[in-house]
Amino acid sequence: MDSNTKQIQRIQAETAKKNLELRQFQCSIVEDEKEALELIKTLVKPNDMVSVGGSMTLFETGVIDWLENNKEIEYLDRYHTEDAQEVFRKSFYADVYLTSTNALTLDGKLLNVDGNGNRVAAMIYGPKKVVVLTGINKLVKDEAAAIERIQMIAAPANCVRLNKDTPCTKVGNCVDCLNPKRICASHVKIDRSQTKDRIHVILMMKEAGY
Ligand code: SF4
Repeated sequence: MDSNTKQIQRIQAETAKKNLELRQFQCSIVEDEKEALELIKTLVKPNDMVSVGGSMTLFETGVIDWLENNKEIEYLDRYHTEDAQEVFRKSFYADVYLTSTNALTLDGKLLNVDGNGNRVAAMIYGPKKVVVLTGINKLVKDEAAAIERIQMIAAPANCVRLNKDTPCTKVGNCVDCLNPKRICASHVKIDRSQTKDRIHVILMMKEAGY
């Protein structure tokens, strides 16, 4: 990416940070996955119970690897369990819940679509601390752009990842289907961290996830 585009992205990131903070979110801007992981390591304390929402960003940035190999925490591993529903329920008691977001708006809102609903539910209520790691690619102008991003990129790409035989995997965008394999059940917008700084957004100046 050229330096002019980078400069504009930096301004946009700073705008989002300022607006997130007005909405009682904590926000940190980091350069890359290395810096993101170093920050996350300071937010997760020994003996913490830690859980995660489904997120390619957490895989791509090495967060999942770090959690799996961290012997100092109680990691609720949704990916290696015979009872994911039990992990999802237990996650409400986590000290730290790590996830990403489908979109972040310039005015500081988080928009997500979820199938089970466990991820958005835990973002809203339960875990003491929620850490939302997002790439700059998910920063969009406003709510309309966030919904468009979800319909054009996030939801269809997740359907492909999960091998869902849904219309979006054929046509490439959401058609608001009623397919039994539909992964889009709940559309959730978080306007504010109701408890100040409970939700900490880490905005990475690199693309990650979808
Ligand atoms: S509603 Fe259906 S078509 Fe739209 S993204 Fe979800 S699964 Fe795909």
